[in-house]
Amino acid sequence: MLKIGVIGCGAIGRDHIRRLHDLVPGCQVVACADYFEEAAVKTAAQYDGIQAYKTGEELIAAPEVDAVVITSSDPSHAGYVLESLAHSKYVFCEKPLAQNAADCEKIIQAELAHGKRLVQVGFMRRYDRGYAEMKRIIDSGELGAPLMIHACHRNVSQPDGFQTEMGVSNVAIHELDICRWLLSDEYESGQVLKVRQSACSTKGYDNPQIVLLETKSGARIDVEVQVADAYGYDIQCQVVCEKGTVNLPDPYAVVTRANATRSFPILTDWKDRFIEAYDIELTEWVKSLANGGPTGPSAWDGYAACVAADALNRSRGTGQFLPIQMMDKPDLYK
Ligand code: NAP
Repeated sequence: MLKIGVIGCGAIGRDHIRRLHDLVPGCQVVACADYFEEAAVKTAAQYDGIQAYKTGEELIAAPEVDAVVITSSDPSHAGYVLESLAHSKYVFCEKPLAQNAADCEKIIQAELAHGKRLVQVGFMRRYDRGYAEMKRIIDSGELGAPLMIHACHRNVSQPDGFQTEMGVSNVAIHELDICRWLLSDEYESGQVLKVRQSACSTKGYDNPQIVLLETKSGARIDVEVQVADAYGYDIQCQVVCEKGTVNLPDPYAVVTRANATRSFPILTDWKDRFIEAYDIELTEWVKSLANGGPTGPSAWDGYAACVAADALNRSRGTGQFLPIQMMDKPDLYK
C-alpha cells in the first residue's frame, strides 16, 4: 500500500485527495499540508488517517510518507520536488514542473544523481481518451505526416493575481506538452502575439494571446489562449495531416432539441472536463510505482514545456520568433 502525502489543499489538491482516497487502488493518503494551515487541518478532518502538517518540508520528511503529490501554487513546485528528491521519495508534481527551465534543469540533475526516475509531471491530457486516440491515428501514419495544429484553450476566468506571462507558463503549458507529444517532435522556435483585447478582461493581463510555434520538422502550431471567455472551459485541438485531419472530440454531452434549436451544454470547470483523465493518470501513477517507478510524463517533459514557455514569454512584444533551445537529452529520459 503506497502511502501518499499531498502538499496544497486548494482546488486540485482536495480533488486529488478525494480521487486517491475513493477511487485509486493500492494507495492511502496519510498526510496533507498547506501554506494556509487551516486548509490542511480542514481537509484532513474529512478523512480517517490523514495527518495535517504545518509545512510541506515536514510532510516530505515524515517517515510514513512514501510518495509526495504537489498541488500547491506554481512558485512552490520546484522547491518541493527538489526536497522530495533529497529524501529519495517519489514525487508527482502538478504542472508546471517549475517557474522556468533553469529550475527544471536543477530537478533533472538531482534526479540523474539517483540514476532512476522519481518524478512525474501532471500533464493529464496524455491520459484523455480523445487525445490518446488522436495520437494513435497520427502515429499509425494512415493520414501521412502531421503538418499543422490549430488549438485553443479557453477559460471562464482566472483568480486574482493572474498575470500575462501565466497565460503561457500556467495555462498554455498544457498545449506546449500535448502538441510535442502528439507530433513526437520538439520545438524549434516560438512567438506570442497580442491581438485585439477582449472587453471581458479588465484585470490588467493580456487576453487573448496567440502562441505560435514551429517544430524541428517544420510543422506549425497556433494556440489561442483566452483566460476570460465569458462562456465556458473549452479546449479544442485539430491536427492537420497530409491526407486528413484529426479533431479532439467535445466531452460527452446530451443534445437537446427544442424551441427550433439543437443544443448541448459546454462545461465550465476544468475538474469536470478532464475528470476521467485525472482518474486514469493517478491510477497509472500508483500502479507504476508498485512496478518500479513512474512511466508517465517525466521531468524532461516538464523541462521541455518550460523551455518553450520561457522563450515564448521572452518573445512577447518583440515581433519575432525566438529559438527554443534544449540541452541534450540524458539517457534516463530516452
Ligand atoms: P489553489 O486552489 O489556489 O490551491 C493552491 C493551494 O496551495 C492553496 O491552498 C495555497 O494556499 C497553497 N499554497 C500556496 N503556496 C504554498 C506553499 N508554498 N506550500 C504549501 N501550500 C501552498 O490552486 P489550484 O487550482 O488547486 O492549483 C494548484 C496547482 O495545481 C497549480 O500549480 C496549478 O497549475 C495546478 N493545476 C493543474 C491542473 C491540471 O489540469 N493538471 C488543474 C488545476 C490546477 P494559499 O491560498 O494560502 O496561497
